[in-house]
Amino acid sequence: MPVELSPSTNAINIVEASLREFGQSSVVLSSFQREGVVIIDMVQKVAPGTPVLTIDTGRLPVATMEMIRKIEDRYSLTVEHVRPDPAEVETMVAAHGLDLFHDSYAHRVLCCQVRKVRPLEKRFGTVAAYFAGLRRSQSDSRADIEFIDRSSTPVKICPLADWSPQDVLRYIAANNLPEHPLYAAGYTSIGCDPCTRAVHAGEDERAGRWWWETDEAKECGLHFSPDGKVERKVDVLLREILERTAV
Ligand code: SF4
Repeated sequence: MPVELSPSTNAINIVEASLREFGQSSVVLSSFQREGVVIIDMVQKVAPGTPVLTIDTGRLPVATMEMIRKIEDRYSLTVEHVRPDPAEVETMVAAHGLDLFHDSYAHRVLCCQVRKVRPLEKRFGTVAAYFAGLRRSQSDSRADIEFIDRSSTPVKICPLADWSPQDVLRYIAANNLPEHPLYAAGYTSIGCDPCTRAVHAGEDERAGRWWWETDEAKECGLHFSPDGKVERKVDVLLREILERTAV
């Protein structure tokens, strides 16, 4: 009969095996939520100095910057800020306004494309694999997350895929890890300042992200409606921004 590993032991085994396989070509991608800090802790214990990246959209909460400083002090590292192309942001804001994400789902995804997805794709050009703190139970759209996803490059490693929120809290307490200050204010998922709020009792874990959207996947633009209409609209909006930026 196979031995059942605890979530923590299984996650550490995945981290160790992945670091053996990808070594110096791997990075940690974190937004300094609880899961992201757990991943940083596991990876830095096995391979100190593994680069830690964060997508700095230019609209992060001040509290996230405080967390970055704490992590840098604790692990003696410098977090790399992956930032959007200033010209693309300037063109998008000139065309649609700073808070375009309130106008429509397509405009929100456009903002996430320009501020998050495109800069990360550029940075990932030299990365073989990255660690992320995604969990299956965070939302329906994450229910099928694999521990190691080799379907695209870079390989995505999610050692906490099968963890519950309680598993995360147990690891944080056992290792005395710092917590993002916004959890104490009722946040359960933390992203850009204008697109994140605290959740109410009984709400879904990611209900505080883009809370004005009701039927859409609460993700950063990697998921689109099945009929493709939103995807096509985002494509058109993005193409316009890139054409104007190139002028
Ligand atoms: S989360 Fe909001 S502010 Fe941040 S990139 Fe997406 S739409 Fe823009």
